[in-house]
Amino acid sequence: MVDSGQWVETNCPLFTVHCPLSTEMSIRLRLSLWYVLVLAGILITFAGLLYAVLSFSLFSEVDRRLQIRAADVENSLATALELQTDPRIFISRGGRLTLPTADTFATPGVFVQIATLEGVALTRSENLGAQTLVVSPAALTQVTRGETVYANLTKDRVPLRVYIAPLTVRGQVLAAIVVAESLQGANDTLRRLAFLLIAGIAAGLLFAFGIGAVLAYHALAPIDRITQTAHTIARANDLTRRIEAKATRDEVGRLAATFNAMLGRIEELFRAQQRFVADVSHELRSPLTAIRGNLDLLRRGALDDPEARQETLAAIEAESARMQRLVQDLLLLAQADAGVPIEKRVVELDTLLLDVFRQARLNAGNVKVSLGSEDQVQVIGDADRLKQLFLNLMDNAIKYTPSGGAVTLSFARENDWVRVAVADTGVGIPAQDLPKIFDRFYRVDKARSREKGGTGLGLAICKWIVDAHNGRIEAQSEVGKGSVFTVWLPVSRQ
Ligand code: ADP
Repeated sequence: MVDSGQWVETNCPLFTVHCPLSTEMSIRLRLSLWYVLVLAGILITFAGLLYAVLSFSLFSEVDRRLQIRAADVENSLATALELQTDPRIFISRGGRLTLPTADTFATPGVFVQIATLEGVALTRSENLGAQTLVVSPAALTQVTRGETVYANLTKDRVPLRVYIAPLTVRGQVLAAIVVAESLQGANDTLRRLAFLLIAGIAAGLLFAFGIGAVLAYHALAPIDRITQTAHTIARANDLTRRIEAKATRDEVGRLAATFNAMLGRIEELFRAQQRFVADVSHELRSPLTAIRGNLDLLRRGALDDPEARQETLAAIEAESARMQRLVQDLLLLAQADAGVPIEKRVVELDTLLLDVFRQARLNAGNVKVSLGSEDQVQVIGDADRLKQLFLNLMDNAIKYTPSGGAVTLSFARENDWVRVAVADTGVGIPAQDLPKIFDRFYRVDKARSREKGGTGLGLAICKWIVDAHNGRIEAQSEVGKGSVFTVWLPVSRQ
């Protein structure tokens, strides 16, 4: 968090009242917690299912064993009792019932007891010893009706699963077969499983949280660096700094690259701004110095000499005119920078260019200005700006062509475009300067430009006007031979 120029690391609380994963937490912590939360959800569901399935299968296995054992006992006793003339009397008199020997491997630890329908034990399996299995009256009533009953008992603190089935002979329920098995083993198994699952999940989540935190830390560390760099830049006013991040193609890499690109652009704009202010001051200083010098001359006596006075006043006029042009040009460029839109009307370009041609010829001096090819063509745009564009180009061509040279203006339609070319046989522009001549205040020969009243903004304005009309401008030149400035504008279809 930034606090009046100080870098402060915040320690956010882990939980707030409203949202457990509050936005006050660091992304790192939130990521890790979400990760752990989702993992916990998955693990707990899985563990719960595993526990439920295992306990279900363990208990059903017990029930199945009890049922089998009861069926064995019933089969064997029923056969013996069938032989009795009156099995009911045989039982009520306490006749000897011999339990079938159990398959100790198939039904280990299963206790068997035969009880009267009143609950009195008649006979018991040996593994019961002196113990009896107490059956509830409700269960006995159900058994009397011929139903089977499952119940859970606790004997000597050992949980037992009990199955009570009727002993039926010749359609009559004579006694209750009570079979039971200890649930200790199953419960122990389940307890061990639950412990293993809980401990495993807790350890797994702790481990996952640790790994998640480390991963999130490494993944987000560059973002911290970006923030710190941004902070240092803001504090130190140093636009030359860049983020040192590995050139990866992931989100963080892209963020760092975009941030660096943005810084580059801001730095460029800032430098351009500084340059521009310096250039403007410089450009305004020269005419002002000249004006002050001439005023000084006037004060020191030039007023008395008519010729000197004339000369001084002319110089003052020329300098103030240059200053006025400079200020007008600057104003225009400021409007361009502010994005002031240009007018969009149908313009008869041929008529406009003939006008420009005529006007240029008036200021041509000893330079021969002629017309090359011409086509009738309309464009959409701002007539005043377009006129300014071509007048600038013609003025430059005349300005930088020595007397006796020639300037040709030609325009021809080519498919959907009109090509306007201003060619001269002037001094030309060196190849290394050619790419920069559209920059503000860029001049190949400063002295020459000033001497001709140039501001160094003419071509920058031309470029802006062409761009605003969705066209393009190109310059070709050869030193000593001349230059050709070509403007391409889209033709209007109206
Ligand atoms: P300026 O007011 O100095 O003419 P411009 O922006 O119009 O400013 O032109 C920038 C520079 O490009 C000029 O200073 C000049 O050196 C060069 N230049 C422009 N037009 C021509 C031309 N037709 N022939 C030779 N040089 C030119």
